[in-house]
Amino acid sequence: MKNIGILGIQGAIEEHEAMLQAIGCNTFWIKEPKDLRHIDGIILPGGESTSMGKQLEWSGMMEPLRKAIAKGMPAFGTCAGMILLAKEIEGNSLQSRLGLMNIVVKRNAYGSQLDSFVTDLDVAGLSQRLPAVFIRAPRIEACGDGVETLASYRNHPVLVRQGNMLAASFHPELTECTDLHRYFVSRMVAG
Ligand code: GLN
Repeated sequence: MKNIGILGIQGAIEEHEAMLQAIGCNTFWIKEPKDLRHIDGIILPGGESTSMGKQLEWSGMMEPLRKAIAKGMPAFGTCAGMILLAKEIEGNSLQSRLGLMNIVVKRNAYGSQLDSFVTDLDVAGLSQRLPAVFIRAPRIEACGDGVETLASYRNHPVLVRQGNMLAASFHPELTECTDLHRYFVSRMVAG
């Protein structure tokens, strides 16, 4: 059984946990550096990326987490989690983040909370269309070396992979469909 951590700072933690348990994983809330020791992969949930970044610094998690992912720990960032993974945030934002993925993101580019929407996406490697919930979602403006686009919406990538890192602009955990969690766990997490 695979042991998957969920960064337990804020955001849609329980929803990811429910999906992971539904597909047969052990789940752990990751709040401090020592929690990283026994997991095979980690989900960085949505929430508010500025406060998540600050709390990663305060808790001493930023550096150990960055090192673990840089060394190959599989990581899946959704929405704010994707912002934490991005090397560049449009406007040269200096907000604290892991900064490991060769993507440029623009925060809140899909509009306000009231502009939230649900759509179905074609995903490379998945046979069924994937329901996706966008909430104050970041848009991927550019992808660099090693980044593969797995799904796009209106000419922008919304699901990308770079080696051991997967990032989605949207929230897959707020639907009934576990396909993307299954993709992450079965294809990216060894065990
Ligand atoms: N707008 C948030 C941010 O910039 C992300 C929103 C989300 O995770 N649903 O961090």
